[in-house]
Amino acid sequence: MQCPTNGEATIATMPSPPPRSHVWHPFTQMRGFEGEDAPVIESGDREWLVDTEGRRYIDGISSLWCNVHGHRHPRIDTAVREQLDRVAHTTMLGLSHPVAEELARRLVEIAPGGLSRVFYSDSGSTAVEVALKMAFQYWQQAPDRRPSRTSFVCLDNAYHGDTVGSVSVGGIDLFHSMYEPLLFDSHRVPAGDAAALEGVLSARADEIAAVVVEPLVQGAAGMLVQPPGYLRAVRDLCDRHDVFLVCDEVATGFGRTGTMFACEQEAVAPDFLCLAKGLTGGYMPLAATLTTDRVHDGFLGEYEEFRTFFHGHTYTGNPLACAAALATLDVFEEERTLERLVPKTALLEQLLRHLVEPLAHAAEVRQMGFMCGIELTDGDGQPYDPGLRMGHRVTLAARARGAIVRPLGDVVVMMPPLSITADALEELVEITADAIVDATSVSGELRAAA
Ligand code: PMP
Repeated sequence: MQCPTNGEATIATMPSPPPRSHVWHPFTQMRGFEGEDAPVIESGDREWLVDTEGRRYIDGISSLWCNVHGHRHPRIDTAVREQLDRVAHTTMLGLSHPVAEELARRLVEIAPGGLSRVFYSDSGSTAVEVALKMAFQYWQQAPDRRPSRTSFVCLDNAYHGDTVGSVSVGGIDLFHSMYEPLLFDSHRVPAGDAAALEGVLSARADEIAAVVVEPLVQGAAGMLVQPPGYLRAVRDLCDRHDVFLVCDEVATGFGRTGTMFACEQEAVAPDFLCLAKGLTGGYMPLAATLTTDRVHDGFLGEYEEFRTFFHGHTYTGNPLACAAALATLDVFEEERTLERLVPKTALLEQLLRHLVEPLAHAAEVRQMGFMCGIELTDGDGQPYDPGLRMGHRVTLAARARGAIVRPLGDVVVMMPPLSITADALEELVEITADAIVDATSVSGELRAAA
């Protein structure tokens, strides 16, 4: 504990008034947060969320990009309840259970070819950590070992989660630069520039364990869409240099870009496929890192050779979460979710073109399937002063009108459940457009007051 040495420090250590809530929210500046009177969500119903005051909101961000088939889907609810009647949790360390076995089989069946092994964990961040550690360890110990391969290539503006390993392959300064002293070095290349990647691999393949990408679209960077053919080129370059490719489909997986996995659109099979978020339909924390026999077999050996993958979380492969995931996959088939998404994606495109693109402050609208971001700029086409928190203001205005959207800086994100109805989708885009007008129309006054 620090001792106060002057008046200022004494004031700083004076007790704050007791908080109304004890919860410290993620990615949230807590100063002023209580004043925003954030809704307390009590229940959900398909694409709707309902707060303790009975107000209804369209879940325009799928509860942080993970809800797929809507809230309280009867099929998934029943699967979880039935599993609850069997067992809620049992460990995967040295034991197994039927739902984890069945889910692994189903994931291998739907994943791009060659991915035959499934390692469970609990979040997108851990799915990526697992891929990084496996790739690293493979090169240290496999029969074709290359121990100098200890680093990774990642993309500018990448986001792969918040744990220290996944931050080390991230590239968003606002989230990542503070932790620089804690991170391992990675080689960063511009997204979409295959020549830049080729340059790094040609010069340094001997140092590189894997290339890590978010395929087709970088979500947290503000929905930055890569040029067609880029992912295929990345795969080809990795093959040429025998470097692993890690595809982080935590955001893009489970139909978000129009196909079950984004990789499919460029006929790419990665060496590691990281899945989380939509895996359970957005019901529970569960992640999976899929990999190949080659990688798996690089960890085989006598116990005393210590080639084991020494990694595993307590709730790894939790049975309730696996049951939700299996039911989520069933619903994809039963409700023909991907097929029915096609006209909805076209409708979303049309709504954006008519309602959002004409807005003076919507500088760019980026869409890939059911992922979309609206980049805001001021009246002169310049980025807003970050202190104005314009993206945040838009989300507050949208909330007041009955929709939940989220900002990534001054990019407003819309990413509704795949199951959203056409009417609700229309309402969501209308509310978001109105919220942009509400928030940006006061920006001149805010600037003048600043
Ligand atoms: N990878 C990507 C591409 C993501 O978008 C995210 C989260 N938005 C993560 C990893 C981290 O997932 P989680 O928050 O479940 O750790």
